[in-house]
Parts: sequence; C-alpha cells; structure tokens
Amino acid sequence: MRRNTKIPLKRVERIFNEALRIRRQFASDSEPFDSIGYIEERLPFAGIYSFDFMVEEKVYSGNVQVPAYVNIRDKIFMRIDQRTYDDATDMHPKAREIVAHEIGHIVLHVLVAKRMEIRNFHKGVPVTDAHYKTTEVQEFEADLFAAALLIPWPAVAEETTAWDLKLRYKVKSDVAGLIIYYSDWIRRSKKKG
Ligand SMILES: [Zn+2]
Repeated sequence: MRRNTKIPLKRVERIFNEALRIRRQFASDSEPFDSIGYIEERLPFAGIYSFDFMVEEKVYSGNVQVPAYVNIRDKIFMRIDQRTYDDATDMHPKAREIVAHEIGHIVLHVLVAKRMEIRNFHKGVPVTDAHYKTTEVQEFEADLFAAALLIPWPAVAEETTAWDLKLRYKVKSDVAGLIIYYSDWIRRSKKKG
C-alpha cells in the first residue's frame, strides 16, 4: 500500500465508485469480498498463458519473489501464483488484497494499455513487455481500487475504526486505513460543498 502518490480526489472517488459498483454485483455491503470467487465467476481465468501482453509486477510468496500480472490479448487474463491463489481462496487478507489489486489493473488500466498497443502497432513499434510496465500512479490506483473492492466505502462512517473494518471485511489494517483516509477526505470535501 502506497499513500505518497499524488492523485486528484475526483479520480479517487471515481475509482471508489467503480469498485463499489463491481462489488455490489457480487457481494452485499455487510460481507467480506471473495476476490477469487469473483474472478472465477466473472473473469476468464486459467493458469498458463502466452505473454503477448502483460502488466507485470512482483509480489512475495513466502520469501520468494514471483511475478503476478494481468495478461491480455483478446480476452483478459490474470495470472497469480498458486500460493496466493490458495491463500486468497482461504480468505487470507494479504492474498485477497493482491488479487483485488490485479482486478483493479484489469478494470482501470486495460483500456489504456490496449490503446497503446494499437498505437504502437500502427507506428510499427514491436510489442514488447517494456511497453506495459505500470506507472507509480497506476499502482496506487490499483491499491485504491483494491481497498474499495474489499471494503464498501459507504459503510465507512466518521466513527468507524480500522479495527472494525479489519474484523468485518477480513482485511489488513493498511487497507482499512486507506479507505478510512480517503472516505473521510471525500466526505469533508462534500461538506464544504
Ligand atoms: Zn500493480
């Protein structure tokens, strides 16, 4: 979880609402979000793909650094390592956060990357992985999306604590902290009018 990246409040709100919309298609506001259940039901998913296109990043599985990425061609795929998959299935907070973050890249960044792919194709630029490195802002956006997917942000009231959210939605404290921080910010900006 990064919190030092500058991002306009309007964009945060848009990301939160998009995550909320998706969350509500799949879960009630009172229950934890099952990231793996969502992928298996709503996103085409399997284990092994060709690497025509991807947004790659590193995650830790135990002590070992492994790639986790979204891999897109005509369909959208996500690849996560087996350990993260198993842990997320067992509703481990950290693993669910990783999966929710990848869903964020799919929802928020696939179209941007697709456009770049087409532009490069027309310019005759060969498609390589290097074109699909995510930016720091995109990484933070995926974090924000993940937090709002795991926690329905209208459920966050002024007196809600990170501990409440941690217990209710089976998330880590930093995810709860992120949603509280930005929900509060959005609420205050609305009060000001
Ligand atoms: Zn990422």
